[in-house]
Amino acid sequence: MYITDLHIHSHYSRATSKECTPEYLDLWARRKGIDLLGTGDFTHRAWREELKEKLAPAEDGLYRLKEEYCLEPGYRPEMRTPRFVISGEISTIYKKHGKVRKVHSVILLPGLEEAERLSVKLEAIGNLHSDGRPILGLDCRDLLEMTLESCPEAIFFPAHIWTPHFSLFGAFSGFDTIEECFEDLTPHIHALETGLSSDPPMIRKLSALDRFQLISNSDAHSPSKMGREANLMDIDLSYEGLKKAINTGKGLSGTIEFFPEEGKYHYDGHRKCGLCLSPDEAKAYHGKCPICGKKLTTGVSHRIQQLADRNEEVFLSGSKPYESLVPLLEVVAASTGYTTASKRVQNQYQELLYSLGSEFSILRDIPIEEIKKVSSEWIAEGIARIRAKKVICSPGYDGEYGTIKLFEPGEIK
Ligand SMILES: [Zn+2]
Ligand SMILES: [Zn+2]
Ligand SMILES: [Zn+2]
Repeated sequence: MYITDLHIHSHYSRATSKECTPEYLDLWARRKGIDLLGTGDFTHRAWREELKEKLAPAEDGLYRLKEEYCLEPGYRPEMRTPRFVISGEISTIYKKHGKVRKVHSVILLPGLEEAERLSVKLEAIGNLHSDGRPILGLDCRDLLEMTLESCPEAIFFPAHIWTPHFSLFGAFSGFDTIEECFEDLTPHIHALETGLSSDPPMIRKLSALDRFQLISNSDAHSPSKMGREANLMDIDLSYEGLKKAINTGKGLSGTIEFFPEEGKYHYDGHRKCGLCLSPDEAKAYHGKCPICGKKLTTGVSHRIQQLADRNEEVFLSGSKPYESLVPLLEVVAASTGYTTASKRVQNQYQELLYSLGSEFSILRDIPIEEIKKVSSEWIAEGIARIRAKKVICSPGYDGEYGTIKLFEPGEIK
């Protein structure tokens, strides 16, 4: 079984960490237990140069970091060497049917040559150099057409499909149906990225989406955030295997999700006024902030409600299972009462990895008793509660992350 995270960014994207380099992406993939990760940002020439220099071809259509660039080579050597697949995200902003549309899409390619070829074509349309996630004034359908013309093996999926401002179904600049966006090329779309603020049962309220695979990626802007969402794949480690899993579901065994409440747009609200509202509460205010009168940002829950034709969350037969996790660093912080930024929490996190293995193995597999032996009762209890889905959620809204509490106030002294 492989864990894959296919949507991340390099240090050439806006607002990303300087550590989004091949070296640190590889290191953090080992720490997290990610077997296959996207390179991000293939449209950026300098990033492609860096990848060419630092990655070596591995299995068909995949790459690995050259050994001379590996950081901390002694770091639990039994951990698997991560593979990279060429990936990138493109933001298309355009007018269609009298409305401005802003849609983000992720493209995976079988090699750097294909990346070069497609980038040359896209360069004719807009600037690819100022941002690793370029903005193009191009209809998203036409982007898909150009991608498939340039590389028929490309994998193309809409990114974080519910984000209010920048996605296929976004409340403010998206569409109501996939067909409206991709028209005649809709059959080439096979998978949708759920984004942090939704999980599969929420999305399955739309029967129109029943035929699509649901996949999950971190959209990390710093290496330590990788894997906060990911895919479980039982595939041949190759581009073909990956493509089959995404496009047909064969080999896609499930996803690892955020608790959707923790995402930045789960509920409606107005961040400046500190106001978070459930969809029903927001409806009562007719989409206006009752404090300042400005427009409320429609969250993912509400948007799904608007488009759904099923009342209940459903689990379709044939749907892939999913797990909801909280990042280990947050578990350690919650269990000790310090913040994730504190040295103490970070050291304890590293110690856990050194003595037990990757973050995913700690969160998902290692017996609670064993975790208790090398850490504390509270860290072990926190992980047990995540596995049992016994967490206390307060939803995110209008760009503000939600919080997941593992313990009641006063439980930890
Ligand atoms: Zn995006
Ligand atoms: Zn992104
Ligand atoms: Zn307000």
